[in-house]
Amino acid sequence: MKSTAECTDDSESNYSDVVSIHSDDEEDLEDYRKGGYHPVCIGDRFNHDRYIVVRKLGWGHFSTVWLAQDTKTHQHVALKIVKAASHFTQSALDEVKLLEKVNRANPENAGWQYIAQLLDHFWHTGPNGKHVCMTFEVLGESLLSLIKRFNYRGIPTPIVKRISRQILLGLDYLHRECGIVHTDLKPENVLVWIPNVEEYLQKITNDSLHHMPPFNENMTTPSNHATATTETTESNETDEPVTEVPPVSVLSTVDTTGMTKNQKKKLKKKLKKKQAEATGTTTTSGNKKSSTSTAIGASDISNGLANLSLSESDGFKIIPSSILDFTSILSDGSKDDDLKAFDKITVKIADFGNACWLDGDYTHIIQTRQYRSPEVIVGAKWTDRADIWSMACMVFELLTGEFLFDPRAGSKYNKDDDHLAQVIELMRVVPRSLTMGGEYSSEFFNRNGELRHIKKLRYRRLRDVLHDSFLVPPAEADLLSSFLSPMLEVDADKRITAHEVLNHPWLNEE
Ligand code: ADP
Ligand code: MG
Repeated sequence: MKSTAECTDDSESNYSDVVSIHSDDEEDLEDYRKGGYHPVCIGDRFNHDRYIVVRKLGWGHFSTVWLAQDTKTHQHVALKIVKAASHFTQSALDEVKLLEKVNRANPENAGWQYIAQLLDHFWHTGPNGKHVCMTFEVLGESLLSLIKRFNYRGIPTPIVKRISRQILLGLDYLHRECGIVHTDLKPENVLVWIPNVEEYLQKITNDSLHHMPPFNENMTTPSNHATATTETTESNETDEPVTEVPPVSVLSTVDTTGMTKNQKKKLKKKLKKKQAEATGTTTTSGNKKSSTSTAIGASDISNGLANLSLSESDGFKIIPSSILDFTSILSDGSKDDDLKAFDKITVKIADFGNACWLDGDYTHIIQTRQYRSPEVIVGAKWTDRADIWSMACMVFELLTGEFLFDPRAGSKYNKDDDHLAQVIELMRVVPRSLTMGGEYSSEFFNRNGELRHIKKLRYRRLRDVLHDSFLVPPAEADLLSSFLSPMLEVDADKRITAHEVLNHPWLNEE
């Protein structure tokens, strides 16, 4: 175990910038209390010594997630340890039930492989209470981290087509075979699968032992966590932006080669804006953060953090998360190789912490704001089609690096008003299901079906947005728009299903 003093000696590199990505983006130390997170040290053992903790992978509002060695199979697993309070354990037990259904409903279905599968679950008792623990196959970074790798300029279209096909197959499996709605589909909740993960883990474990970066004291001090500014919203209760946001210091680690001065300026502004947005969100309940991110080239450094662990001198301290970067095993470090690795990318839908059975009559608020469907906003009954709406929002974001809908409150209207206005501006239809069908419809719409609080709408067409703002060539913009629009059908009953949209030529054309 490295002590703080040992690690701060090395002053020559700019690792501290990278380290600060981690320091600002870890779970709240205050949540290590009765009913909260279970304190974990590297080497801790779980489930009758079957699992031995190797390092931290990530964390969420409900849990911390650890890389662990499974001594029974001699493979690694991702060990999710849920907070101990009864409402967390209850929803974790629901999550287990849903994941068990996903696992056994039909492994032959083409979509099965695109869902993060539960391997094992058990109880663990510690100083903060009794925790539900789950193990999963070890996966890598999230699609949000990928969006950042491409500097918010959009992920190349062939990669997005490949990813979209896989997620839609996963959704089709969830909806039709399992009868499950995910309810929180967003880039952060889709993780990249790592081929030959055991080989890869071997490699980075060796590397990190040889290239241990200097330890930044700030990384683990409680005061630092109090100022953390990169919260992301899990879903439901809050409206806050949910993007996993890099601190400004990430600018120095972003690869800007090949960018014009203007593009660099724009990127800088964008990153700062995203950070500023996130700053206002730190105190909202229901928030969560997830694993840390890194730009191309910074991944080795974050992996190097892997074996840093608790400093014993100061009592309990937080171990930094570190993502697993799947491109590094497939490339020798050049960016061209990195891009080639993406040709074979496979992703999996993760985080079933908010998922629901399809047979319920639900109207409660679900989904993270930017991916929230109109029927949910107005408090109408929602179904699996809510996931399809989120899917369209996510595909747009993967392609452009920007949110499709990013509502703001004004002096005379709230975020929901603005959200509905943005939807109507783009889709130009206001079905009765929206104006009359929801518990809150009358708060947003008058009897004529017009928005009460926003009168001036600026209509725009999706194909024009794609063409004018994102320079998508006209024919491609038309095709893409014809793919996304049926998923953005405002009337949820008429919205296309995952199964149907899988036939669309946009997905199937190279
Ligand atoms: P929560 O329900 O607390 O939000 P998640 O299931 O979202 O927990 O997991 C929290 C974080 O842990 C994720 O954002 C991700 O960074 C990491 N993580 C989760 N599952 C895996 C996995 N199978 N492999 C690698 N990392 C994972
Ligand atoms: Mg989560």
